[in-house]
Amino acid sequence: MKGFEYLQEELDQMQEEGVFRNLIPLESAQGSRVTIKGKNVIQLSSNNYLGLTDHPKMKQAAIEAVEKYGAGTGSVRTIAGTLSMHEQFEEKLAEFKHTEAALVLQSGFATNQAVLSAILTKEDVVISDELNHASIIDGIRLTKAGRRIYKHTDMEDLEKALKETQDYRTRLVVTDGVFSMDGNIAPLTEIVELCEKYNALVMVDDAHASGVLGANGRGTVDHFGLNGRVHIQVGTLSKAIGVLGGYIASTKTLRDYLIHKGRPFLFSTSHPPAVTAACSAAIDVLLEEPELIEKLWDNTKFFKAGLEDLGFDTGISETPVTPVIIGDEALTHKFSDKLFENGVFAQGIAFPTVAKGKGRVRTIVTAQHSKEDLQEALNAFEKSAKELGIL
Ligand SMILES: *Cc1c(COP(=O)(O)O)cnc(C)c1O
Repeated sequence: MKGFEYLQEELDQMQEEGVFRNLIPLESAQGSRVTIKGKNVIQLSSNNYLGLTDHPKMKQAAIEAVEKYGAGTGSVRTIAGTLSMHEQFEEKLAEFKHTEAALVLQSGFATNQAVLSAILTKEDVVISDELNHASIIDGIRLTKAGRRIYKHTDMEDLEKALKETQDYRTRLVVTDGVFSMDGNIAPLTEIVELCEKYNALVMVDDAHASGVLGANGRGTVDHFGLNGRVHIQVGTLSKAIGVLGGYIASTKTLRDYLIHKGRPFLFSTSHPPAVTAACSAAIDVLLEEPELIEKLWDNTKFFKAGLEDLGFDTGISETPVTPVIIGDEALTHKFSDKLFENGVFAQGIAFPTVAKGKGRVRTIVTAQHSKEDLQEALNAFEKSAKELGIL
């Protein structure tokens, strides 16, 4: 069909530059080892931090929910698609997060779009870290609010922005809790103190911290002891929680407001019963099996130390997200391909997801990996890097 020649040209260009990527289907369940192109490899690219994607309790909960309530809901939440299990899960989530209320949306992405587009008008301003997630950036694009971008985790620059925006009605400072490409943690205590000083609201997107940081995986707010001082926590149910979805944990006012004004909430169908039941079971798992989080961190320390001993540049990571920074985009992808040949699945990530010249193979270990898996992976990193002259 004619009409897409201009798109094809751009794709051809990407092929030439070595940055065109095909999707890579898994032929097995997600796990510490997966089958790809018929080959059993160590998985180091999933967000399945705790291995919950196939936790028996969650699978069982999903199966029972399907049998009792069916495969889908048939409506958006605000018309006929709210099941009692949706509301029960939100109450459970709010209690878990130590907040007054919670509201679940279709995805973390949709949650950021909903919140930012709903609560900010041209009388307000949003102040955002330059390395915030794409869903925050796109959420900001949907508002008529003023916008200020501060340098990554730079508190002087944030204070400057707060000083310069005192005439706005509401000022919302928004940050990732854990930055997804570098694995560093936002300086949340300092951010909260500055926001209290300048009377601004704080919003934290804890996608990579939910299930990873804080007591039982409650996130960065709990990790820093800031319960009650952060206005909006956004979390995802799609990463460590192992299923699908996003949520806000905040006040009843914000929950009620988003039910009326959060466009993705209003105009997109609610989660199927299996999703909600599995997410709800995941909260029980977080409460009952804290050893999973301990194992995750134990594995993280082992793997990070191993990479650093081999001489790799892992940047400023403080969490299970550990980038192996290569630099050149094409070389990054070659390294990823070589790792695959050597038995490890670790995807290369390059511009525009990260800055030009900052290409990296991003690794995330999980609680499911054994020390043997991780040692085998480290051996593959060493071998692959030597074969390509990287180390
Ligand atoms: C992954 C991610 C999201 C999106 O979450 P989904 O539930 O996958 O849509 C939002 N924010 C951040 C910081 C993320 O890393």
